Amino acid sequence: MSRKLNFFAGPSTLPVEVLEELKENMVDYKGMGMSLIETSHRSKEYDEVHNEAVGLVKELLELPDNYKVVFLGGGATLQFSMVPMNLLIGERVCDYTLTGVWAKKAYADAVKLGKVNVAFDGKDDKYTQLPASVMPSAGSSYLHLTSNETIGGLQWQNWPDTGGVPLVADMSSDIMSRPLPIEKFGMIYAGAQKNLGPAGTTLAIIRNDLLERSSDNLTAYLNYSIHADKNSLYNTPPVFSIWAVMLVLRRLKALGGLGEVEKMNRKKAGIIYDAIDSSEGFYKCPVQTENRSMMNIVFTMANEDLEKEFVTKAEAEGMVGLKGHRDVGGCRASVYNSMPLEGAKTLADFMKNFAASK
Ligand SMILES: *Cc1c(COP(=O)(O)O)cnc(C)c1O
Repeated sequence: MSRKLNFFAGPSTLPVEVLEELKENMVDYKGMGMSLIETSHRSKEYDEVHNEAVGLVKELLELPDNYKVVFLGGGATLQFSMVPMNLLIGERVCDYTLTGVWAKKAYADAVKLGKVNVAFDGKDDKYTQLPASVMPSAGSSYLHLTSNETIGGLQWQNWPDTGGVPLVADMSSDIMSRPLPIEKFGMIYAGAQKNLGPAGTTLAIIRNDLLERSSDNLTAYLNYSIHADKNSLYNTPPVFSIWAVMLVLRRLKALGGLGEVEKMNRKKAGIIYDAIDSSEGFYKCPVQTENRSMMNIVFTMANEDLEKEFVTKAEAEGMVGLKGHRDVGGCRASVYNSMPLEGAKTLADFMKNFAASK
Protein backbone atom coordinates (compact mmCIF):
# COMPACT_ATOMS: atom_id res chain seq x y z
CA MET A 1 0.00 0.00 0.00
CA SER A 2 1.29 3.44 -0.76
CA ARG A 3 -0.23 6.27 1.25
CA LYS A 4 -0.92 9.60 -0.42
CA LEU A 5 0.52 12.85 0.78
CA ASN A 6 -2.71 14.26 2.16
CA PHE A 7 -3.00 18.07 2.14
CA PHE A 8 -6.76 18.14 2.84
CA ALA A 9 -7.91 20.83 5.29
CA GLY A 10 -10.13 18.57 7.36
CA PRO A 11 -10.72 15.81 8.00
CA SER A 12 -7.04 15.55 7.43
CA THR A 13 -3.99 13.35 7.58
CA LEU A 14 -3.28 11.30 10.71
CA PRO A 15 0.01 9.71 11.78
CA VAL A 16 0.23 6.26 10.20
CA GLU A 17 1.40 4.84 13.57
CA VAL A 18 -1.88 5.98 15.11
CA LEU A 19 -3.95 4.39 12.35
CA GLU A 20 -2.00 1.15 12.73
CA GLU A 21 -2.49 1.12 16.48
CA LEU A 22 -6.23 1.69 16.10
CA LYS A 23 -6.37 -1.11 13.56
CA GLU A 24 -4.46 -3.54 15.75
CA ASN A 25 -6.78 -2.90 18.70
CA MET A 26 -10.02 -2.39 16.83
CA VAL A 27 -11.44 -5.92 17.02
CA ASP A 28 -10.02 -7.14 20.34
CA TYR A 29 -8.98 -4.35 22.66
CA LYS A 30 -6.24 -5.57 25.00
CA GLY A 31 -7.68 -9.08 25.23
CA MET A 32 -11.18 -7.91 26.21
CA GLY A 33 -12.67 -10.02 23.42
CA MET A 34 -14.38 -6.91 22.06
CA SER A 35 -13.54 -3.52 20.72
CA LEU A 36 -13.14 -0.45 22.88
CA ILE A 37 -15.97 1.06 20.84
CA GLU A 38 -18.23 -1.88 21.74
CA THR A 39 -17.86 -1.53 25.48
CA SER A 40 -19.37 0.79 28.07
CA HIS A 41 -18.03 4.32 28.27
CA ARG A 42 -17.95 3.64 32.02
CA SER A 43 -15.72 0.56 31.70
CA LYS A 44 -12.26 0.52 33.27
CA GLU A 45 -10.69 0.19 29.82
CA TYR A 46 -12.41 3.26 28.40
CA ASP A 47 -11.89 5.21 31.59
CA GLU A 48 -8.13 4.80 31.24
CA VAL A 49 -8.17 6.06 27.67
CA HIS A 50 -10.44 8.98 28.54
CA ASN A 51 -8.36 10.09 31.50
CA GLU A 52 -5.12 9.70 29.62
CA ALA A 53 -6.53 11.98 26.89
CA VAL A 54 -7.52 14.59 29.48
CA GLY A 55 -4.14 14.24 31.22
CA LEU A 56 -2.19 14.65 27.98
CA VAL A 57 -4.08 17.84 27.10
CA LYS A 58 -3.18 19.25 30.52
CA GLU A 59 0.42 18.16 30.24
CA LEU A 60 1.08 19.30 26.67
CA LEU A 61 -0.52 22.72 27.18
CA GLU A 62 0.83 23.00 30.75
CA LEU A 63 -2.62 23.88 32.05
CA PRO A 64 -2.80 25.37 35.54
CA ASP A 65 -5.29 23.76 37.97
CA ASN A 66 -7.92 26.42 37.37
CA TYR A 67 -8.68 25.14 33.84
CA LYS A 68 -10.93 22.18 33.02
CA VAL A 69 -10.60 19.94 29.98
CA VAL A 70 -13.87 18.88 28.38
CA PHE A 71 -14.58 16.62 25.39
CA LEU A 72 -17.85 17.39 23.63
CA GLY A 73 -19.71 16.34 20.49
CA GLY A 74 -21.29 18.56 17.87
CA GLY A 75 -18.16 19.89 16.21
CA ALA A 76 -16.66 23.32 16.64
CA THR A 77 -19.89 24.60 15.11
CA LEU A 78 -21.88 23.75 18.25
CA GLN A 79 -19.44 25.93 20.20
CA PHE A 80 -20.53 28.90 18.09
CA SER A 81 -23.81 28.59 20.08
CA MET A 82 -22.54 27.21 23.38
CA VAL A 83 -19.97 29.96 23.89
CA PRO A 84 -22.49 32.83 23.96
CA MET A 85 -25.12 30.67 25.74
CA ASN A 86 -22.74 30.00 28.60
CA LEU A 87 -20.38 32.94 28.68
CA LEU A 88 -22.41 35.99 27.70
CA ILE A 89 -23.43 37.60 30.96
CA GLY A 90 -27.01 38.95 31.17
CA GLU A 91 -27.51 42.06 29.07
CA ARG A 92 -23.79 42.64 28.69
CA VAL A 93 -22.02 42.71 25.35
CA CYS A 94 -19.39 40.33 23.90
CA ASP A 95 -16.82 41.13 21.19
CA TYR A 96 -15.96 39.29 17.98
CA THR A 97 -13.07 39.71 15.56
CA LEU A 98 -14.10 39.02 11.97
CA THR A 99 -11.04 37.60 10.28
CA GLY A 100 -12.50 35.20 7.74
CA VAL A 101 -15.10 32.54 7.03
CA TRP A 102 -14.96 30.75 10.40
CA ALA A 103 -14.90 33.86 12.57
CA LYS A 104 -17.92 35.16 10.68
CA LYS A 105 -19.81 31.91 11.28
CA ALA A 106 -19.10 32.14 15.01
CA TYR A 107 -20.31 35.75 14.94
CA ALA A 108 -23.47 34.93 12.97
CA ASP A 109 -24.57 32.49 15.68
CA ALA A 110 -23.64 34.80 18.56
CA VAL A 111 -25.79 37.68 17.25
CA LYS A 112 -28.83 35.41 17.50
CA LEU A 113 -28.18 34.99 21.21
CA GLY A 114 -27.23 38.39 22.56
CA LYS A 115 -25.50 41.71 22.16
CA VAL A 116 -22.38 41.48 20.04
CA ASN A 117 -19.86 44.14 19.15
CA VAL A 118 -17.54 43.76 16.15
CA ALA A 119 -14.09 44.60 17.50
CA PHE A 120 -12.41 44.10 14.12
CA ASP A 121 -13.62 43.42 10.60
CA GLY A 122 -11.11 42.51 7.91
CA LYS A 123 -13.54 42.91 5.02
CA ASP A 124 -11.86 45.99 3.50
CA ASP A 125 -8.69 44.03 2.83
CA LYS A 126 -10.67 40.87 1.87
CA TYR A 127 -9.66 39.11 5.09
CA THR A 128 -5.95 39.00 4.32
CA GLN A 129 -4.73 40.78 7.47
CA LEU A 130 -5.13 40.54 11.22
CA PRO A 131 -5.30 43.61 13.46
CA ALA A 132 -2.19 44.73 15.36
CA SER A 133 -4.38 45.22 18.43
CA VAL A 134 -8.05 45.00 19.37
CA MET A 135 -9.93 46.82 22.07
CA PRO A 136 -12.93 45.02 23.55
CA SER A 137 -15.99 47.07 24.59
CA ALA A 138 -16.33 48.32 28.15
CA GLY A 139 -17.67 45.54 30.39
CA SER A 140 -17.41 42.97 27.63
CA SER A 141 -18.20 39.35 28.61
CA TYR A 142 -15.45 37.99 26.36
CA LEU A 143 -13.51 38.64 23.17
CA HIS A 144 -13.71 35.89 20.53
CA LEU A 145 -11.02 35.22 17.96
CA THR A 146 -10.25 32.47 15.47
CA SER A 147 -6.59 31.62 16.04
CA ASN A 148 -6.19 30.15 12.56
CA GLU A 149 -8.47 30.86 9.62
CA THR A 150 -8.46 27.48 7.89
CA ILE A 151 -9.88 28.80 4.61
CA GLY A 152 -8.18 32.21 4.38
CA GLY A 153 -4.80 30.97 5.64
CA LEU A 154 -4.29 33.57 8.41
CA GLN A 155 -2.98 32.81 11.88
CA TRP A 156 -2.62 34.99 14.93
CA GLN A 157 1.05 35.08 15.91
CA ASN A 158 0.63 37.53 18.82
CA TRP A 159 -2.30 37.43 21.20
CA PRO A 160 -4.14 40.70 21.76
CA ASP A 161 -4.06 42.41 25.11
CA THR A 162 -7.68 42.50 26.25
CA GLY A 163 -7.33 44.39 29.52
CA GLY A 164 -8.77 41.55 31.59
CA VAL A 165 -11.65 40.64 29.25
CA PRO A 166 -11.48 36.83 28.81
CA LEU A 167 -10.12 35.76 25.45
CA VAL A 168 -12.12 32.92 23.84
CA ALA A 169 -10.42 31.25 20.89
CA ASP A 170 -11.58 28.86 18.18
CA MET A 171 -8.38 26.85 17.67
CA SER A 172 -9.92 24.14 15.52
CA SER A 173 -7.17 24.21 12.94
CA ASP A 174 -4.08 24.97 15.02
CA ILE A 175 -4.62 23.50 18.48
CA MET A 176 -1.46 21.72 19.72
CA SER A 177 0.60 23.20 16.87
CA ARG A 178 2.61 25.43 19.26
CA PRO A 179 2.90 26.23 22.98
CA LEU A 180 0.35 28.76 24.30
CA PRO A 181 0.48 31.44 27.00
CA ILE A 182 -2.54 29.76 28.52
CA GLU A 183 -3.19 32.38 31.20
CA LYS A 184 -4.24 34.79 28.42
CA PHE A 185 -7.23 32.59 27.56
CA GLY A 186 -10.57 32.18 29.29
CA MET A 187 -11.58 29.41 26.93
CA ILE A 188 -10.21 27.51 23.94
CA TYR A 189 -12.16 25.11 21.75
CA ALA A 190 -11.23 22.96 18.78
CA GLY A 191 -12.98 20.38 16.62
CA ALA A 192 -10.75 17.30 16.47
CA GLN A 193 -10.62 16.63 12.77
CA LYS A 194 -7.92 19.07 11.70
CA ASN A 195 -5.05 18.75 14.11
CA LEU A 196 -6.15 16.30 16.80
CA GLY A 197 -7.71 13.18 15.34
CA PRO A 198 -10.80 11.96 13.52
CA ALA A 199 -14.05 13.97 13.51
CA GLY A 200 -16.46 13.35 16.37
CA THR A 201 -15.18 15.21 19.37
CA THR A 202 -14.48 18.84 20.18
CA LEU A 203 -11.95 19.73 22.82
CA ALA A 204 -12.83 22.60 25.14
CA ILE A 205 -10.55 24.09 27.78
CA ILE A 206 -12.40 26.38 30.15
CA ARG A 207 -11.20 28.48 33.09
CA ASN A 208 -13.07 27.84 36.35
CA ASP A 209 -14.38 31.38 36.73
CA LEU A 210 -15.98 31.13 33.27
CA LEU A 211 -17.57 27.79 34.14
CA GLU A 212 -19.39 29.56 36.95
CA ARG A 213 -21.23 31.64 34.36
CA SER A 214 -23.22 28.67 32.97
CA SER A 215 -26.84 29.28 33.89
CA ASP A 216 -28.96 26.57 35.54
CA ASN A 217 -31.61 27.46 32.95
CA LEU A 218 -29.55 25.93 30.17
CA THR A 219 -30.54 22.43 29.10
CA ALA A 220 -28.06 19.81 30.22
CA TYR A 221 -26.04 19.17 27.09
CA LEU A 222 -25.58 22.88 26.41
CA ASN A 223 -24.23 23.58 29.90
CA TYR A 224 -20.42 23.61 30.20
CA SER A 225 -20.41 23.24 33.96
CA ILE A 226 -22.33 19.94 33.77
CA HIS A 227 -19.79 18.47 31.35
CA ALA A 228 -16.90 19.75 33.46
CA ASP A 229 -18.38 18.41 36.74
CA LYS A 230 -18.88 14.98 35.17
CA ASN A 231 -15.44 14.83 33.53
CA SER A 232 -17.12 14.77 30.07
CA LEU A 233 -19.09 11.65 31.02
CA TYR A 234 -22.49 13.24 31.65
CA ASN A 235 -23.63 11.38 28.54
CA THR A 236 -21.88 9.00 26.17
CA PRO A 237 -18.83 10.80 24.82
CA PRO A 238 -17.56 10.23 21.24
CA VAL A 239 -15.39 7.33 22.40
CA PHE A 240 -13.71 6.45 19.13
CA SER A 241 -12.62 9.99 18.42
CA ILE A 242 -11.33 10.50 21.97
CA TRP A 243 -9.39 7.24 21.79
CA ALA A 244 -7.69 8.35 18.57
CA VAL A 245 -7.04 11.86 19.93
CA MET A 246 -5.34 10.26 22.93
CA LEU A 247 -3.02 8.32 20.61
CA VAL A 248 -2.23 11.45 18.61
CA LEU A 249 -1.42 13.35 21.81
CA ARG A 250 0.82 10.50 23.03
CA ARG A 251 2.80 10.89 19.87
CA LEU A 252 3.17 14.67 20.33
CA LYS A 253 4.51 14.03 23.80
CA ALA A 254 6.98 11.47 22.43
CA LEU A 255 8.13 14.03 19.84
CA GLY A 256 9.20 16.27 22.72
CA GLY A 257 6.09 18.38 23.32
CA LEU A 258 4.66 21.47 21.68
CA GLY A 259 7.94 23.42 21.51
CA GLU A 260 9.36 20.73 19.24
CA VAL A 261 6.08 20.45 17.34
CA GLU A 262 6.16 24.19 16.65
CA LYS A 263 9.75 24.05 15.37
CA MET A 264 8.79 21.31 12.97
CA ASN A 265 5.68 23.19 11.83
CA ARG A 266 7.67 26.39 11.19
CA LYS A 267 10.18 24.41 9.19
CA LYS A 268 7.51 22.71 7.07
CA ALA A 269 5.56 25.90 6.38
CA GLY A 270 8.81 27.80 5.72
CA ILE A 271 9.78 25.36 2.97
CA ILE A 272 6.48 25.89 1.16
CA TYR A 273 6.35 29.67 1.65
CA ASP A 274 9.92 29.78 0.29
CA ALA A 275 8.73 27.99 -2.83
CA ILE A 276 6.04 30.69 -3.20
CA ASP A 277 8.28 33.67 -2.45
CA SER A 278 11.14 32.52 -4.67
CA SER A 279 8.86 31.86 -7.66
CA GLU A 280 9.12 35.43 -9.00
CA GLY A 281 5.38 35.88 -8.80
CA PHE A 282 4.38 32.57 -10.36
CA TYR A 283 2.76 31.69 -7.02
CA LYS A 284 1.21 34.41 -4.87
CA CYS A 285 0.09 34.22 -1.27
CA PRO A 286 -2.58 36.87 -0.65
CA VAL A 287 -2.02 36.95 3.13
CA GLN A 288 -0.01 39.71 4.84
CA THR A 289 3.41 38.14 5.56
CA GLU A 290 3.32 38.41 9.36
CA ASN A 291 -0.18 36.88 9.49
CA ARG A 292 0.56 33.82 7.35
CA SER A 293 -0.65 30.50 8.70
CA MET A 294 1.75 27.66 9.55
CA MET A 295 -1.13 25.22 9.04
CA ASN A 296 -3.03 26.24 5.90
CA ILE A 297 -0.91 27.75 3.14
CA VAL A 298 -2.99 29.44 0.47
CA PHE A 299 -1.64 30.49 -2.92
CA THR A 300 -2.86 31.48 -6.34
CA MET A 301 -1.46 31.36 -9.86
CA ALA A 302 -2.01 33.56 -12.90
CA ASN A 303 -5.31 31.90 -13.81
CA GLU A 304 -7.68 29.08 -12.90
CA ASP A 305 -6.56 26.83 -15.74
CA LEU A 306 -3.02 26.82 -14.38
CA GLU A 307 -4.32 26.06 -10.89
CA LYS A 308 -6.39 23.16 -12.24
CA GLU A 309 -3.42 21.75 -14.08
CA PHE A 310 -1.32 22.12 -10.92
CA VAL A 311 -3.84 20.21 -8.81
CA THR A 312 -4.23 17.44 -11.41
CA LYS A 313 -0.49 16.95 -11.88
CA ALA A 314 0.09 16.97 -8.13
CA GLU A 315 -2.55 14.26 -7.75
CA ALA A 316 -0.82 12.15 -10.35
CA GLU A 317 2.26 12.33 -8.11
CA GLY A 318 0.35 11.24 -5.02
CA MET A 319 -0.33 14.69 -3.50
CA VAL A 320 -4.03 15.17 -2.78
CA GLY A 321 -6.20 17.92 -1.31
CA LEU A 322 -4.45 20.93 -2.84
CA LYS A 323 -7.51 22.60 -4.33
CA GLY A 324 -8.51 25.75 -2.44
CA HIS A 325 -11.81 26.03 -0.59
CA ARG A 326 -14.78 26.43 -2.96
CA ASP A 327 -15.57 29.88 -1.47
CA VAL A 328 -12.16 31.41 -2.23
CA GLY A 329 -10.63 29.35 -5.06
CA GLY A 330 -6.87 29.11 -5.61
CA CYS A 331 -4.83 26.38 -3.97
CA ARG A 332 -4.28 25.43 -0.36
CA ALA A 333 -1.78 23.11 1.29
CA SER A 334 -2.78 22.09 4.81
CA VAL A 335 0.31 21.02 6.70
CA TYR A 336 -0.96 20.06 10.14
CA ASN A 337 1.14 18.40 12.83
CA SER A 338 0.78 14.99 11.20
CA MET A 339 2.18 16.05 7.81
CA PRO A 340 5.79 14.86 7.77
CA LEU A 341 8.65 17.19 6.84
CA GLU A 342 9.27 15.04 3.76
CA GLY A 343 5.73 15.83 2.60
CA ALA A 344 6.39 19.58 2.68
CA LYS A 345 9.68 19.08 0.83
CA THR A 346 8.04 16.93 -1.83
CA LEU A 347 5.37 19.56 -2.41
CA ALA A 348 7.89 22.43 -2.56
CA ASP A 349 9.99 20.53 -5.12
CA PHE A 350 6.90 19.83 -7.17
CA MET A 351 5.95 23.54 -7.04
CA LYS A 352 9.41 24.56 -8.27
CA ASN A 353 9.37 22.03 -11.10
CA PHE A 354 5.85 22.97 -12.14
CA ALA A 355 6.74 26.69 -12.29
CA ALA A 356 9.95 25.93 -14.22
CA SER A 357 7.97 23.89 -16.80
CA LYS A 358 5.86 26.94 -17.70
C1 LIG B 1 -13.43 23.29 10.52
C2 LIG B 1 -13.57 24.47 11.39
C3 LIG B 1 -14.74 24.71 12.14
C4 LIG B 1 -15.96 23.82 12.03
O1 LIG B 1 -15.74 22.62 12.62
P1 LIG B 1 -16.88 21.48 12.68
O2 LIG B 1 -16.23 20.49 13.59
O3 LIG B 1 -17.06 20.99 11.29
O4 LIG B 1 -18.10 22.07 13.25
C5 LIG B 1 -14.78 25.81 12.95
N1 LIG B 1 -13.73 26.64 13.06
C6 LIG B 1 -12.60 26.46 12.37
C7 LIG B 1 -11.46 27.41 12.54
C8 LIG B 1 -12.48 25.36 11.53
O5 LIG B 1 -11.35 25.16 10.83
